[in-house]
Amino acid sequence: MTAAARAAEAVDAVRRDVSELHAELVRYHLVAWTSGNVSGRVPGTDLFVIKPSGVDYDRITPDNMILCDLDGTVVEGDLSPSSDTAAHAYVYRAMPEVNGQVHTHSPYATAWAARGEPIPCVLTAMADEFGGPIPVGPFALIGNDDIGRGIVQTLRGSRSPAVLMQNHGVFTIGDSARAAVKAAVMCEDVARTVHLARQLGDPLPIAPEDVDRLYARYQNVYGQR
Ligand SMILES: [Zn+2]
Repeated sequence: MTAAARAAEAVDAVRRDVSELHAELVRYHLVAWTSGNVSGRVPGTDLFVIKPSGVDYDRITPDNMILCDLDGTVVEGDLSPSSDTAAHAYVYRAMPEVNGQVHTHSPYATAWAARGEPIPCVLTAMADEFGGPIPVGPFALIGNDDIGRGIVQTLRGSRSPAVLMQNHGVFTIGDSARAAVKAAVMCEDVARTVHLARQLGDPLPIAPEDVDRLYARYQNVYGQR
């Protein structure tokens, strides 16, 4: 197989993967109308695949996904890319270990973002997945690199794969697009549970050393190996 054929095959695989993962955003009630998006880096290239802008979730297919370079310029695709493409591109440039990203306005997590309040680590499931609180990133307007820069600055100092961008919503990263989707699902789940706990009193903190132990076990031991 030629290098060009291999690259085309890699792009097709990411198109299928990213297209299918959008259904998970709907399944877990993370999105309304056409908001929200998933992207995935094409392994071994300086390219990523992202959702087109303003397309209904039930019309998303591998073929209408948009292929972009790491400047966010469209390389392949008839539609315009998601309006969050510049933010995804910035994160891929700045964080080479990131291979997938998700953005949603999922309601409970975004309610924390609206208050600019990090979600405290008061659940073992949060310690497992996020290794501490879910942090808040700065208020930033769309249209330049401010959102991407805010995501990177916040997540670099945190074990959390999710950031609540103030007054906006959730951005997650992962070593795959699927891992970023999982982080977005778990972020909304813990945002809701901690919100519910708050209605009846003050949630109890988990000691930092226990958070560390839970995180280490979950990241290294849990699940099928
Ligand atoms: Zn948004």
